[in-house]
Amino acid sequence: MFIFLGFHETKIIPGDGRQSSQTQPNQTMDPRGFPTSLPEFQKVFPNNQACKKYLESVRWPDGFICPRCATQGEPFRLPDSEESCSVVLKCRACRKPTSLTAGTVMQSSHTPLTTWFWAAYLVTTQTPGQSALQFQRQLGLSRYETAFQILHKLRAGMVRPERDCIGGEYPVEVDECMVGGRSRNLGQGVHDMAIVSGAVEVRPRKETDDRKASRYAHHEGGKPLRRTIYAGRLRLRISESRTRPVLCKFVTDNVIPGSTIRTDACNGYDPLQSLGYVHHKLALNGDPEKAEAHLPMIHIVFSNLKAWLIGTHHGRIERHHLQAYLNEFVFRFNRRFYPMTAFNSVLGLAARSIPPTYEELYSGEWQHPAG
Ligand SMILES: [Zn+2]
Repeated sequence: MFIFLGFHETKIIPGDGRQSSQTQPNQTMDPRGFPTSLPEFQKVFPNNQACKKYLESVRWPDGFICPRCATQGEPFRLPDSEESCSVVLKCRACRKPTSLTAGTVMQSSHTPLTTWFWAAYLVTTQTPGQSALQFQRQLGLSRYETAFQILHKLRAGMVRPERDCIGGEYPVEVDECMVGGRSRNLGQGVHDMAIVSGAVEVRPRKETDDRKASRYAHHEGGKPLRRTIYAGRLRLRISESRTRPVLCKFVTDNVIPGSTIRTDACNGYDPLQSLGYVHHKLALNGDPEKAEAHLPMIHIVFSNLKAWLIGTHHGRIERHHLQAYLNEFVFRFNRRFYPMTAFNSVLGLAARSIPPTYEELYSGEWQHPAG
């Protein structure tokens, strides 16, 4: 259950398309910041008019500014059909037309905005990935190809590697797992298995949750229980081997120097201390209770990852596509508390024009546009 601490302050008031007045605020977003169910989503974005209002409010939160002459003020709104995707605003000063969807994934598309919005919602909120066929059915599209293209474009926004490092004040669990599967056609043995390295931040829950958890904490000899912590940011990468250079490079590429790192006793991580990390390693010897206590978060991540790969792709993923899938998993995982950020991001809406939620400010994940 995700709890948002404050109301998202973007001027987002699309909604009931029957009230098309520009000045009258009608239905507002869910106070948690984003629709949390499909019916709720459809109430907020019932038609293309509502989607257009949203696009405009995200691109110009303080009102339209002409990209050519920088004049601020109400533009001319060219009459457009309900189904049209290419909405054009025209500057009153220099008369330059500006498309609402320019620079987004919806640019030059003939698919209605409602379909795009709905698809983006499904892609970013549903834990299991969607096949194009499932998509076509859910979106009521007549052509498979349209569903495929929409999905492809939205996913492209999820597979960019996240480049900033994690850790710092939060300890980081690091481990590897094997993904891929047995290929029935290649005879005995395991084929196409890949080593995936993972690093995840361990963050303490906030006060209100802590109070609830403290009742349980005493029963485990003071060991931190899962309910007092949660997984922060995640990084996943294919590792070519379990050698020291490979495992340590994954850490140095992804974790802030000086961070505390927890691993099992695998000696591939032995150089971490000399590389400037605080290294806590523990021999788990396959003991699930020890693993649960020492590396609780990364093991949950790995089992979710495997379930997703098997459930969505039947475990049959070609090696050269695997990193893209890992990136998609990481994208969704890291934004699970920020569905609106994920939604805007896959649609190609500039993140910098969206103010942070209180949650983002509080957690320190908000990056100032200048940064
Ligand atoms: Zn202008």
